[in-house]
Amino acid sequence: MRSNLLPILTALGLLSLSQAFAPDPEPRWWKGNTHTHTLWSDGNALPEYAVTWYKDRGYHFLALTDHNILQESETWFPVATAGGARLQPDQVKAVLESKNPLLEERTREGQREVRLNRHTELVQRFSEPGKFLLVPGEEVTSSWRSPGPEGRGHPVHINAIGLEAFIPPARGTSVVDVLNQVFDAIAAQEKSQGSSVFGHLNHPNFGWGVSWEDMARIRAGIFFEVFNGHTGTADAGNENHPGTDEMWDRANILRLTELKLPLLRGISTDDTHHYHGGKVAGPGRGWIVVRAKSLDLDSLTQAMRAGDFYSSSGVDLQDLKVTPTSYSLQAKVREGEALTIEFVGARKGDAPEPVVFSTSQGAEASYTFQGDELFVRARVTSNLPHPAPKVEGETQRAWTQPVLPGR
Ligand SMILES: [Zn+2]
Ligand SMILES: [Zn+2]
Repeated sequence: MRSNLLPILTALGLLSLSQAFAPDPEPRWWKGNTHTHTLWSDGNALPEYAVTWYKDRGYHFLALTDHNILQESETWFPVATAGGARLQPDQVKAVLESKNPLLEERTREGQREVRLNRHTELVQRFSEPGKFLLVPGEEVTSSWRSPGPEGRGHPVHINAIGLEAFIPPARGTSVVDVLNQVFDAIAAQEKSQGSSVFGHLNHPNFGWGVSWEDMARIRAGIFFEVFNGHTGTADAGNENHPGTDEMWDRANILRLTELKLPLLRGISTDDTHHYHGGKVAGPGRGWIVVRAKSLDLDSLTQAMRAGDFYSSSGVDLQDLKVTPTSYSLQAKVREGEALTIEFVGARKGDAPEPVVFSTSQGAEASYTFQGDELFVRARVTSNLPHPAPKVEGETQRAWTQPVLPGR
């Protein structure tokens, strides 16, 4: 804007002086979780209860991602009269006693029921500019059955974040076909609604649904869960299946060398189902932290696509910097904590394999590119145990995003 226009515009009240001279905000870190269930599908919390859990603990953004449903219809849920059922009277009481509860209740033929809040109502109640952002989500939950006498179901679960219209599960001729149908539908929706919508492949090892070779062939998406807080998702793999950390590098090698597809980025989520105790799928186990100028889905998505975020199952970072010649990071250290920082990836060559380029102890580390790397990313491992380990001895970690050195 030409400066001689400023006095005129401010005089007309079209622009305040502070707006006219406000510098672009500095990017900052925003913490969020993009995989959460509620009573809208198989979670055991009222949507209001779930959102409160995250907002009260300092999360900046959250997506409720129920299986094959958007939170938009009029839906009444029975309150349990005995133990074991999903909505216990205690939870209803806690919500009713909270500040400005949204909850409505009724009694039908002697059964007490409460209405599940719609996404739009939750946004109105909980979203606060610059403080907390509730984004729409759905876990598009498909399954592909391999043929023949040995045939079995392969779960293919993909979260769609930011969508305005329901995306149905896909049927296809293979796992790769199902993956691409859903990611294509997400990309088409982003185009038609004109605002950010992104997908992430969930828990590829759940039910050994999606192999790294399948994952590599996702055309219209770049995100997958390297960590999922549900204890049944087999992130660590087993004797016949690599863990998600190794799958990530193997998939990226294939994408860069043969398939000519962009780097996959690893995210971490809760996949919360249980809010009231129990070890299976509680909240607060995995999250992402995104460096963006403002707390809105377009800014967050843009930063995530550029790889400017990290994933965590407990370790938090202070800073992260990639230059044309090096990759460096600094982690926050808690009392009694010892950290190991590894730079991992693959080297160029005939048959690249995942490698560890360097390992060091301490809160910060830097890696200087040698020129022969295909891609490089970092992994930070703490000595502190994870509160809900999926394998014995699992400790807290953080993952940063792979880069193509020199670009
Ligand atoms: Zn799932
Ligand atoms: Zn889920």
